[in-house]
Amino acid sequence: MPPDLIINGWIHSHGDLKLQQFSEIDAANHATVLDFVYAQLRLPLAKVEIIIDDLVLLQEGAWQDADLAAGSVSLITDASVRRAEIWEMVYGGFSYAIVIGDSGWHMQEIYYKKRGILTGRTFVGRLPAAITSLDDGRRLVSEAIQALAAEVAAKICPVLYLPPKMEGL
Ligand SMILES: [Zn+2]
Repeated sequence: MPPDLIINGWIHSHGDLKLQQFSEIDAANHATVLDFVYAQLRLPLAKVEIIIDDLVLLQEGAWQDADLAAGSVSLITDASVRRAEIWEMVYGGFSYAIVIGDSGWHMQEIYYKKRGILTGRTFVGRLPAAITSLDDGRRLVSEAIQALAAEVAAKICPVLYLPPKMEGL
């Protein structure tokens, strides 16, 4: 893929299946796609204060191993500090998912993730999404549909799962 392009979602077809919505397998795939997109397109959203119960402040060169046993988080500074607030950046990202069917139905969702860089606190959500059709002036005439069908038939080959041979059985 050209380096200036990036995958930010996925679209797939249920063909003529009766399931006219995302499946549980699709949901698992959404999570994988979201992780992939988030890793490359995450953006800083907000700095959020981390509430730390029992923060221990220590000074460089003036603490011992036993001091680390106290508190839930230790902050070692180069100067004497009596109070400290810790704020973390929360990063967010999202990906698209579209499922379509042969009869023309379609469904879209946006999956999003927010994650605190320090705490690792993660929130994942999903929202239904509208879709806007843009008229580019072209019409999908039957010749074009047949050409697309031929292209799909040539390029899309189902991958059949072949279980690995079990050695020694
Ligand atoms: Zn599906």
